[in-house]
Amino acid sequence: MKSIPEFLARLSGGDTPQAAVDDARCLLPPIGCGRPLTDGGLPDQATAREWHISGLCAGCQDRIHTGGAS
Ligand SMILES: [Zn+2]
Repeated sequence: MKSIPEFLARLSGGDTPQAAVDDARCLLPPIGCGRPLTDGGLPDQATAREWHISGLCAGCQDRIHTGGAS
Protein backbone atom coordinates (compact mmCIF):
# COMPACT_ATOMS: atom_id res chain seq x y z
CA MET A 1 0.00 0.00 0.00
CA LYS A 2 1.24 3.44 -0.95
CA SER A 3 1.74 6.13 1.65
CA ILE A 4 -0.56 9.14 1.63
CA PRO A 5 2.23 11.60 0.74
CA GLU A 6 3.18 9.40 -2.18
CA PHE A 7 -0.45 9.25 -3.27
CA LEU A 8 -0.75 13.04 -3.09
CA ALA A 9 2.53 13.47 -4.94
CA ARG A 10 1.21 11.36 -7.76
CA LEU A 11 -2.00 13.40 -7.98
CA SER A 12 -0.13 16.67 -7.97
CA GLY A 13 2.47 15.76 -10.54
CA GLY A 14 5.29 15.04 -8.11
CA ASP A 15 4.70 17.79 -5.57
CA THR A 16 4.63 16.70 -1.92
CA PRO A 17 3.59 18.31 1.37
CA GLN A 18 7.25 18.07 2.37
CA ALA A 19 8.31 20.03 -0.71
CA ALA A 20 5.59 22.62 -0.08
CA VAL A 21 6.72 23.06 3.53
CA ASP A 22 10.36 23.34 2.45
CA ASP A 23 9.40 26.09 -0.02
CA ALA A 24 6.96 27.80 2.40
CA ARG A 25 4.07 27.55 -0.01
CA CYS A 26 0.81 25.70 -0.61
CA LEU A 27 0.76 22.47 -2.63
CA LEU A 28 0.67 23.08 -6.36
CA PRO A 29 -2.66 22.88 -8.23
CA PRO A 30 -4.90 20.96 -8.63
CA ILE A 31 -4.57 19.96 -4.94
CA GLY A 32 -3.60 23.34 -3.56
CA CYS A 33 -3.24 26.84 -4.95
CA GLY A 34 0.58 26.94 -5.07
CA ARG A 35 0.74 30.36 -3.41
CA PRO A 36 3.60 31.30 -1.13
CA LEU A 37 2.63 31.55 2.54
CA THR A 38 4.61 34.69 3.25
CA ASP A 39 1.61 36.48 4.68
CA GLY A 40 -1.88 35.49 5.67
CA GLY A 41 -1.65 31.89 4.52
CA LEU A 42 -1.41 30.43 8.02
CA PRO A 43 -3.49 32.55 10.42
CA ASP A 44 -3.11 30.31 13.48
CA GLN A 45 -1.23 27.41 15.05
CA ALA A 46 -3.83 24.81 14.09
CA THR A 47 -3.64 25.85 10.45
CA ALA A 48 0.15 25.82 10.55
CA ARG A 49 0.13 22.31 12.01
CA GLU A 50 -2.27 21.14 9.31
CA TRP A 51 -0.05 22.72 6.65
CA HIS A 52 2.95 20.74 7.90
CA ILE A 53 0.94 17.54 7.38
CA SER A 54 -1.09 18.27 4.26
CA GLY A 55 0.90 21.05 2.56
CA LEU A 56 -2.28 23.12 2.20
CA CYS A 57 -2.76 26.79 3.10
CA ALA A 58 -5.75 28.00 5.17
CA GLY A 59 -7.86 28.74 2.10
CA CYS A 60 -7.29 25.32 0.59
CA GLN A 61 -7.86 23.56 3.92
CA ASP A 62 -11.21 25.35 4.11
CA ARG A 63 -12.09 24.42 0.56
CA ILE A 64 -11.38 20.74 1.18
CA HIS A 65 -12.99 20.56 4.61
CA THR A 66 -16.19 22.16 3.36
CA GLY A 67 -16.43 19.84 0.37
CA GLY A 68 -15.48 22.37 -2.28
CA ALA A 69 -19.05 23.34 -3.17
CA SER A 70 -19.65 26.67 -4.92
ZN1 LIG B 1 -3.59 27.02 -1.00
